[in-house]
Amino acid sequence: MKDKTLTSYSIEDAKALMQTLSQPAFRGEQLFSWLHKGATVDEMTNLSKELREKLKEVPFGGVEIAKRLVSQKDGTIKYLFKLEDGNIVEGVLVHYNYGNTICISTQVGCNMGCAFCASTLEGCVRNLTAGEMLYEILAVERETPKSENAARAITNVVMMGSGEPLDNYENTITFLKLVSHPKGINISPRNISLSTCGIPSKIIRLIEEAPHVTLSISLHAPFDGLRSELMPINRVYPIADVLSAAK
Ligand code: SF4
Repeated sequence: MKDKTLTSYSIEDAKALMQTLSQPAFRGEQLFSWLHKGATVDEMTNLSKELREKLKEVPFGGVEIAKRLVSQKDGTIKYLFKLEDGNIVEGVLVHYNYGNTICISTQVGCNMGCAFCASTLEGCVRNLTAGEMLYEILAVERETPKSENAARAITNVVMMGSGEPLDNYENTITFLKLVSHPKGINISPRNISLSTCGIPSKIIRLIEEAPHVTLSISLHAPFDGLRSELMPINRVYPIADVLSAAK
C-alpha cells in the first residue's frame, strides 16, 4: 500500500494534493520545498492559514529529536529520534573535513538476527516510511551549522542505523528519490551509502533503480561457516551469491 504521509510525498503527489484542494500546482511545489526544509505545517507561512489547516488533516509522518549524546572526543553526535507512534530509532552525525555525514535508520528493529547487533533483539517492529528516513536527516540539518557558501550542512548519508534497508525496499527507493530530488534537499546519490547484510535479488534491483548509490556490504567474516554463525542471512544467501550480485 502506498504510504500516505505528507513527508513521503513526491512533488507530483504534492501537486495532486493541491489539485484536490482546488489550489494551483505551484502550491504543490511550495509544499514540497517546505517539507524538504524539515518544516512543520504551521511553519509553511507562504501557504494560507486556511490551507494549512486542511494540510493538517493529512497524516504527517514526522520525526522529532528526543535526545542528543555528544562525544567529548570528536563532537560526533548520537541522536535518538522519536516517531509519531512513539517508537524510537537512532542516528549518528559524524564531522569530517569534507563535510558532515549522517547515519540513519531504516526500520524500527530488524529481522536479520545478526549475532553482534542489539537492533535485532526484538525483531522488526515496523518499517520506516520514506518520509521518516528523510526527516531524520532534515531534523539534524535544521540544527547543524553549515560552512560558508555551503548549500546544506549535511553532505553525506549512510543507511547503516537500525534496520536492513533492502528488507524495506519500496520505502528505501522512494526515500532515495526524495532525498536526491533537485527541488528538495538534493543530496547526490553518489554521496549516499546503503549498507546491507546481502540480499542478492534486492541488490540487483537496487542497481537498476538507484544506480549511483554506493553499495556497502557487511561481511564480518570471509568464510561461510563463520559468517553463518554471525549473520543468519548467510545460510540463505552465502558469500558467493552476495558477491556475484555485487559484481
Ligand atoms: S542487518 Fe544490520 S541492523 Fe539488522 S541485525 Fe544485522 S547488523 Fe543489525
